[in-house]
Amino acid sequence: MMEAKIETAETQNKAPRGVRDILPDESWKWAYVLNVTAQTMADFGYSEVHLPIFEHTELFSRGVGDTTDIVEKEMYTFVDRGDRSVTLRPEATAGMVRAALEHNLCGQNVSSKLWCWGPMFRYERPQKGRYRQFYQFDAECLGLSGPVADVEVIALSVEIFRRLGLRNLEVVANSVGCPNCRPQYRKVLIDYFTSKKNSLCKTCIERMGRNPLRVLDCKVPNCGVVADSAPAIYEHLCDECAAHFEEVKAGLTRLGFPYKLDKRLVRGLDYYTKTAYEILSGDLGAQNAVCGGGRYDNLSESIGGPHLPGVGFAAGFDRVVLVMEQQGNSFGKRPRTTVYVVAQDDAARGVAQILTHKLRMEGISAEQDAGDASRGARGFKAQMKSANKIGAAWACIIGAEEMAQNVVTVKNMTSGEQTSVPLEEAANYIRQQETQS
Ligand SMILES: [Zn+2]
Ligand SMILES: [Zn+2]
Repeated sequence: MMEAKIETAETQNKAPRGVRDILPDESWKWAYVLNVTAQTMADFGYSEVHLPIFEHTELFSRGVGDTTDIVEKEMYTFVDRGDRSVTLRPEATAGMVRAALEHNLCGQNVSSKLWCWGPMFRYERPQKGRYRQFYQFDAECLGLSGPVADVEVIALSVEIFRRLGLRNLEVVANSVGCPNCRPQYRKVLIDYFTSKKNSLCKTCIERMGRNPLRVLDCKVPNCGVVADSAPAIYEHLCDECAAHFEEVKAGLTRLGFPYKLDKRLVRGLDYYTKTAYEILSGDLGAQNAVCGGGRYDNLSESIGGPHLPGVGFAAGFDRVVLVMEQQGNSFGKRPRTTVYVVAQDDAARGVAQILTHKLRMEGISAEQDAGDASRGARGFKAQMKSANKIGAAWACIIGAEEMAQNVVTVKNMTSGEQTSVPLEEAANYIRQQETQS
């Protein structure tokens, strides 16, 4: 095992490279995006599941593919105290299929539509919109092999982004065929790349024989030029794959989704079949995919399960939020504290404490001066300042006069208007005012 680097003054009290904290200024936006996502998933008949963040390493080496960059270079793999090799999930699909198999969620004629949300982990070079702990939402439709399911999955992702107000998106699609038609296409592709060998990068020359489909998505510019002129797989599909692809395209057209064919969009592993797609944002630069997915009819078998067709997508949460911010989209209203309860003097603090709690019990968010170990309780002016600072809509002021009459002075923090309200009525009064505004 490699010797771990010792913590230095530089790393002390800092999050590790490539990960970040989602703080209150951002987290309320996440809650909004998550709400919209959850509602859309429900409207399409998807049920939420919560799966483990780590799995047996083998699940990913078999279910993601041990020749992929993810498995070769990017996994957070470690041996636990029971001597098992476990890995922080680099993606969600393999775990979803594992869970469906383990709990028998798909039997004969039974399909399962599942979605999940959470952090994924990949040891990649951090850059804008790319983190080593990143968040995805993920939908998988298991047990259905027809093209209607493919179209539905694409429509689901498009609809989530439509509800979030994302503009400038493009759907790109391809078919990666199946084990029947791919060998023939591989041959055609290897012949083509062999004739262009001198223009390819070292990695591509190495991969060409073993996995020529991966040369198609090489990011080296020269390889890209060669790949652009390569024969397209959708011209070499078997009858079944061709018919499936035609139906998917017809479905997209029927639903009014413009799409572009991209022959370089491939997932170079045997268990990916037929449809592959991505949704690209014009506002993201090089890392421009907000969502990617497709069909994987042979994934279940590759992890040792029975035949179980599946199609799904994963979308990058961090990137979706980034695009929304860049496009100036709405995240709804930022939740704020509704009421700040102010005690004018020490004698009023007990009543202030009770009122704060009562408001909270009524579902009205309330805050009070909680004092401080060194300073103790603060004066009236300091409390009013706090009410302003947290953006409270109302201040409930309690002093000697209010206590004598069993009332509270309710101040509208925007207009400055003040009203005297019976203490028992404070919650009702504020609720009424809030629903009117
Ligand atoms: Zn085929
Ligand atoms: Zn290359």
